[in-house]
Amino acid sequence: MTVMKLSNGRICLAVFGLVFLLVLTAAGRTAAAAKAQITAVRWSIIKSPVDDQKRLRIVFDLSAPIKKRDFKDIYSTGDVPQLIIDFSGITAARAVAKTQKLDGIFARQLTLSADGDSSKVVIRLNGEVDYNIFALDANPVANKPFRLVLDLGLTPGEGSGNGKADFDVSPGVRGKTIVLDAGHGGSDPGAISPAGIKEADITLAVARKVRKILQAAGAKVVMTRDADVDVYGRNASGVQELGARVGIANRNRAAVFISIHCNSFRDPSANGMSTYYYPKSRYDGLLARCVESSLASNIDLADRGVQQAGFYVIKNTRMPAVLVELAFISSPVDIRYLNSDGGQEKFARAIVGGIGDYFDKAR
Ligand SMILES: [Zn+2]
Repeated sequence: MTVMKLSNGRICLAVFGLVFLLVLTAAGRTAAAAKAQITAVRWSIIKSPVDDQKRLRIVFDLSAPIKKRDFKDIYSTGDVPQLIIDFSGITAARAVAKTQKLDGIFARQLTLSADGDSSKVVIRLNGEVDYNIFALDANPVANKPFRLVLDLGLTPGEGSGNGKADFDVSPGVRGKTIVLDAGHGGSDPGAISPAGIKEADITLAVARKVRKILQAAGAKVVMTRDADVDVYGRNASGVQELGARVGIANRNRAAVFISIHCNSFRDPSANGMSTYYYPKSRYDGLLARCVESSLASNIDLADRGVQQAGFYVIKNTRMPAVLVELAFISSPVDIRYLNSDGGQEKFARAIVGGIGDYFDKAR
């Protein structure tokens, strides 16, 4: 089903491309259309009227309307995540500053460079963010020129900049992109057992084992972290840290997102395995049921069942997502499984089994 959709999409794009080419050629023969010029670049912190969240808004003032084909936005992760905007055939006025310091929360610096008759803008980000980019018409009444607007720091999943995930529900894990999120890490150890074992270490060990099995089955696995680190960076807010994990899943257009955690309670008799989902699509509940029933039938620990919850990472990921609470780190029974290589291997195999069941059942 998904394959059909994709190939239709490509055909449509190819036809559009051809039409554009013809139009451009015709226009080129008669008169070169006036290309926009960047006349100013400015930024401000705005507050979303929808969710009251702060965002960084960068505005490019333009001398003429800009078309979708006149610019390309490229998001690159790495040591320093960057958002690059390539303006093709659009120059910047001499008076526009080549470097600007930005707000420091969402992004650090903007640099503008000329490349022949084109321009390139590089925005150094402070961490993973979602973004939205859109053009505005001139508004003579308000004395506003044509503009290209970039909003950074959106609630993950809200931005159009990174595209929407298709639900990839064909059978089998081969070829699927699966994002694994080892809960906590770095400055946040998560829950700690009475003997001092950190949740962050268990979740990473299990996630690595899940990755190994999935990769052997032909899946493409992306880990939100593969070391004892914060994903966003140190001293991040909870939403920044969780948003960074969601951002990885959304940008990779994962077929499913699996967040791995351990439960904890002050009463050591609390124990067992549970799987949480947020009902944002018709697939989230199915994924949770498949994972939990695989855990219950393969692991000799209490089955606490499937539950709904509004946890940030399962709510804000675009694809079906679950948060697995493997077992209780505070339970003397559960910790034996959680902290042993054999137990971790069982958890990993059960999770992969559940993911496989999901892809076989999802339609
Ligand atoms: Zn946790």
